[in-house]
Amino acid sequence: MTSPDVIVIGAGFAGLAAATALAEQGARVLVLEARPVLGGRASAVRDAVTGEKLDNGQHVLMGCYDDTFRFLARIGASDRVRRQAGLAVTMIERGGRRSTLQLPPLPAPLHLLAGVLAWDALSWHEKMSVMRVGAALRTTGDAGTEVPALRPGGPPGAVTVRDWLVAHGQAARLIELFWEPLALAALNQPIAVAAADTFIEVLSRMFGPEAERATLVVPAVPLDELYAEPARAWLEARGSLVRTQAQARVHVKGSQVVGVDVRGETIHAPAVVAAVAWHALPGLFAAPAPRALDDLLHRAAATTSSPIVTVNLWYDRPVLDEVLVGLPGRAFQWVFDKAVVFGRETSHLSLVSSGAADIVSQTNEELVARATREVHDALPRAASARLVHASAVRERRATFSLAPGQPMRPGTETGVTGLLLAGDWVDTGLPATIEGAVVSGHRAAAAARV
Ligand SMILES: Cc1cc2nc3c(=O)[nH]c(=O)nc-3n(C[C@H](O)[C@H](O)[C@H](O)COP(=O)(O)OP(=O)(O)OC[C@H]3O[C@@H](n4cnc5c(N)ncnc54)[C@H](O)[C@@H]3O)c2cc1C
Repeated sequence: MTSPDVIVIGAGFAGLAAATALAEQGARVLVLEARPVLGGRASAVRDAVTGEKLDNGQHVLMGCYDDTFRFLARIGASDRVRRQAGLAVTMIERGGRRSTLQLPPLPAPLHLLAGVLAWDALSWHEKMSVMRVGAALRTTGDAGTEVPALRPGGPPGAVTVRDWLVAHGQAARLIELFWEPLALAALNQPIAVAAADTFIEVLSRMFGPEAERATLVVPAVPLDELYAEPARAWLEARGSLVRTQAQARVHVKGSQVVGVDVRGETIHAPAVVAAVAWHALPGLFAAPAPRALDDLLHRAAATTSSPIVTVNLWYDRPVLDEVLVGLPGRAFQWVFDKAVVFGRETSHLSLVSSGAADIVSQTNEELVARATREVHDALPRAASARLVHASAVRERRATFSLAPGQPMRPGTETGVTGLLLAGDWVDTGLPATIEGAVVSGHRAAAAARV
């Protein structure tokens, strides 16, 4: 394609959402992806031993991912996920006590009230204190909040999730059993480090007007088949093009985008969407970078990252009946059984450690040993099954940090005319998630005005 209307750099959720939204508006789009495979931080590769396609880490969607479901519907992939009927999460405490939090299909906030009241893991006092957070969600941002820094005018992001929970009377056991696994999954950062405002945004969306917004939605196919390859096929059927192994640089003249340099060739376009992660943005510009981007590039370079570690364990027989189980108080806070999701006879457990700074530098053997210990402690059936194969995946820059003091996140528009930003780190108010990435992509497509 010689003269596309828009070039999108990066084929993760953000770039593919932007590209498909633009093509839907009638634009001819060229997507350039540096890697040989599409999908960025949500991608799949083949496991060398089992031959199975393996996600780079378990991904879960939530019922409140409105833009993501719009994107999946656009590319004809709505049926590639499995949706819970209502939020139901089994937790296995240290010591083995098992309980299930289940929200009934009632209008909010009755679903939360009824679910928490019926949850037998909690004492009466703990149930009442969860309700205090429910009430705070309705008052935060108004004068009613008890946390001074979250009042309008207070410094944004100055209160950590732990401080906020303690200020709302949440006891240590309740934090370990419920809030910490939820916040770690949503924010990918320990609650003593992550700022509370993004968590409050997540809770407000999850426990919003309809009960199904809190339900968990898991991919029923590997991630490349969920969205990346369907998006490629959808785009190419409409005259757009997706190129891999195409490391791109933005070509700017003065303060106007001209196009993109890729593999020694300049491709001209009036608009470019840079849908890359914060750490990749500075690499999109030849030195010296345009002065109009000084502040943006400085902020991108100063943004720090938070890791996720995933350990995959294959057993010779089923060891779990549920799709996922919470393991509060452990290094690996959630375990998923891909074999249950994909309907197989054996087990493929995927153990997730979010906010994994403490363990990310351990060897594969150490990670597998720890994950196995924690699984055997929580799931007696796994302890008596035969472990057939194990692997560990480290994503050191899985998400951007939400710690207080991080640089302000950028908007969609930049100081260069025609250059737009997408990617989960763009300021959507959401943490680094699929939904944040897709929202940012849709915003960039709307701003491109083709
Ligand atoms: C292990 C793990 C588990 C996660 N779990 C969840 C979850 O359960 N739920 C959830 O909602 N989110 C989850 N996330 C977060 C989610 O994956 C990300 O927020 C989302 O995928 C980010 O998409 P993106 O398009 O913004 O960025 P990316 O996926 O990083 O895409 C950017 C793309 O740009 C490409 N690129 C960079 N530089 C160039 C260049 N110069 N030229 C061309 N291409 C370039 C990259 O190769 C990459 O493909 C998880 C992330 C990880 C790592």
